[in-house]
Amino acid sequence: MMKIRRYLRGSGRVLAFVFIASVIWLLLDMAALRMSMDDVNSQLLKERVIRDREISKQQSRGTQMGKLGFKHPVQRVDLSVTNAGKGPLNPSIKLAHVYRHGDQKHGGHQGEHLPMTDKPKHVAIEHKEGQHNVTPKQRVPAKKKAVDLDLNGMELEKSKGIDGIINKTLPVVVPKITQVPPSVQENKHAKKGPIKSEHAKKGPIKSEPKSQAGPELSLLQPGEAHPVKTTTKSPKKDVKGKVLDNKTEEKHVWTITKSGLKTAKETLKPTIKLQAGEDSKDNPVTAVRKPGVHKVLSLDLTDVPRDANAMGQFGQAAVVASNEDAEVRKRWDEGHFNVFLSDKIPVDRAVPDTRPETCAQNLVHDNLPSTSVIFCFVDEVWSTLLRSVHSVLNRSPPHLLTEIILVDDFSTKDYLKEQLDTYMSQYPKVRIIRLKERQGLIRARLAGAALAKGEVLTFLDSHIECNVGWLEPLLERVYLDHKKVPCPVIEVISDKDMSYMLVDNFQRGVFKWPLVFGWSALPEEYIKKNNMTVSDPIRCPVMAGGLFSINKKYFYELGAYDPGLDVWGGENMEISFKIWMCGGEIEIIPCSRVGHIFRGQNPYKFPKDRQKTVERNLARVAEVWLDEYKDLFYGHGYHHLRDNEAVNIGNLTEQIELRKKLKCKSFQWYLDNVYPDMKPPLVQAEGLVFNHGLRKCLTLQKGSLSFDTCDLSRQSQHFNYTWMRHVRQQDLCVAPLGKGSGFALQLCDNAKPEHRWFHKSSNSALAEHLIAEFGSKHMCLEAGPKGDTLHLNSCESRNAFQKWQFTKYHT
Ligand code: UDP
Ligand code: MN
Repeated sequence: MMKIRRYLRGSGRVLAFVFIASVIWLLLDMAALRMSMDDVNSQLLKERVIRDREISKQQSRGTQMGKLGFKHPVQRVDLSVTNAGKGPLNPSIKLAHVYRHGDQKHGGHQGEHLPMTDKPKHVAIEHKEGQHNVTPKQRVPAKKKAVDLDLNGMELEKSKGIDGIINKTLPVVVPKITQVPPSVQENKHAKKGPIKSEHAKKGPIKSEPKSQAGPELSLLQPGEAHPVKTTTKSPKKDVKGKVLDNKTEEKHVWTITKSGLKTAKETLKPTIKLQAGEDSKDNPVTAVRKPGVHKVLSLDLTDVPRDANAMGQFGQAAVVASNEDAEVRKRWDEGHFNVFLSDKIPVDRAVPDTRPETCAQNLVHDNLPSTSVIFCFVDEVWSTLLRSVHSVLNRSPPHLLTEIILVDDFSTKDYLKEQLDTYMSQYPKVRIIRLKERQGLIRARLAGAALAKGEVLTFLDSHIECNVGWLEPLLERVYLDHKKVPCPVIEVISDKDMSYMLVDNFQRGVFKWPLVFGWSALPEEYIKKNNMTVSDPIRCPVMAGGLFSINKKYFYELGAYDPGLDVWGGENMEISFKIWMCGGEIEIIPCSRVGHIFRGQNPYKFPKDRQKTVERNLARVAEVWLDEYKDLFYGHGYHHLRDNEAVNIGNLTEQIELRKKLKCKSFQWYLDNVYPDMKPPLVQAEGLVFNHGLRKCLTLQKGSLSFDTCDLSRQSQHFNYTWMRHVRQQDLCVAPLGKGSGFALQLCDNAKPEHRWFHKSSNSALAEHLIAEFGSKHMCLEAGPKGDTLHLNSCESRNAFQKWQFTKYHT
């Protein structure tokens, strides 16, 4: 005891203190290392989570706004709510600028209600309560009239009036010309280009006789002028214009009241007037139609709805009574949106005209090609499928609609069989194709395309609503250049209240790694530099996928879709890269707008695992189209796809051959020219590889690795740290031969885990280390203290010989 006391006296006390301090220090250090290792492990886990998240995002591509990496910015058209059968529309309801055709000052709706002429057909369909289904029973036979066309290209007759029709929820045909012109602003169109440049390009369209210039268009007679909105606003010019636009749009908010609608109904006249390009109002006697072109036909046969108070009418939000919540929940999964509500909304409801102001004045060619509209569906909800079809029938110029093809991708729901056949049999233009087994969206589209008779194919999802004037602006682009692939602006139909919402201007589809689709606004400088207005076509790097028009011949020239893509996912990337890289263009056309129900989840089953299906599709796209950038795809959480034994992405020979045959450009070209604002770094880091302990740089000399004084001018010291996590010089990768047995340079192989190193992948204490990715125990790359060896060792957070730094980091 005395001895111990003596030791703890004087220098002994100091020694004891030092000893205890060292033990504590050691314990702390070990804890730190442990934490670092945990960090590495959690990093690996995190990467996996990120990947899974990206995949699920990918799977809800273009779905629920806000769930995407990039938001699809929406604006509500109007927050007021319609409540079917529960009183009139609130007179103060602002239908924003959107419902501009209802301008009461000028007489309100001026469309005509015309009964359809085709005789009542054989089938009578049960008319569900609250569901404004159009039934053949309700049709009124009528005499023929030359200029009046019904939806199916049939002639229509002057109607007696519309009240009866409204009451009976007739299949009201309201061919309505909203473009009775104040005047065509020639200079504007001259400036805008397409028409003019087209004339220049395609030759003497102007001088073509009217009879050859497509459909007969009758001129408005003096005194017959329909009420019009006579806004003479000039188009907005730039980003400021965008803001301005919103403001000015505000001024054009129409207030639709019930009485207003009535007035509108009373003034209806039962003729169709397709107003042509030249102003006939100001100078009715000398009015001469500009040959070859006319103003976009803003047909909307539902513009004067039968029941203004119907739920969801005018695209407004609808609510269900609180005691119906359970029902809403019960039916939600049928479509992953408010199916209960959808079934209560008329299948031919009106939606607000959300086009930019200038769109209605745009000229399009008379002889536009006609299109087959293809809807693929699997277990689609009845009311949304019907609403999709009716929106096409009601808002497409009949002469431009060859047919509507419904491709049933082996649905399991009974109502999509005979009941659908029966319902659609009243519309001669609608054809139904039934696939004998589930093919998935991609092959279902191919099946529809193969049977299509139209010159242009227009693909649409089966839960959409086409807006006024949606079709001609798309076809115009295809007409101008058959390699243009136009997409409408995809607006949002709320999955919760079914309201129709506007989206922001200047949005286009883009992607981020690993090939995740999203929306992003054009850069402001770009808008300014190109003096863009809100109605100008927007170059679109990646289409959302579901909604676009394409020249049929061109679609096949491009090899259509890769038929090896399964079920759903990645096909939008494939066709987008293919179109751009092989000489085409994808555009978003702001004057064409289609609402789409974005859903949080796919409501249908995937025959195989959903995640695996999507990532396999994406890997096919990456392998064929991404060139050296495919590493970025794999490097963002898809490393496991490189293991060919575990993942079979199928044969790609045909796709690769096709790319060669079409002489498509490189992915680098695509990035430089189509999506230059992306600028993805090809490597994560590059330059000299500096070792902190040695204060020297890794050098590749005569086929082996050593250390030397750092010298940026020496190529032998330049290495890349790639997305595949390789430390490489040209094709050679730094690879351990095994624990402790030195290093070799091996030909890089993406499939080999021993070629991969974790570096800077977290903020952990091992961030500067190069951690071998193979093996269960993490090992770090370490330089020997004399600079003559390189080996793997247990990771130590403070070991400077395990710390490495590249000259330049890109991420
Ligand atoms: N679809 C199909 N077969 C499938 C998957 C989807 O026919 O195996 C149809 C689906 O009914 C819809 C369209 O393809 O009309 C696009 O699918 P979805 O709406 O689920 O895609 P999203 O809009 O979520 O991208
Ligand atoms: Mn969809």
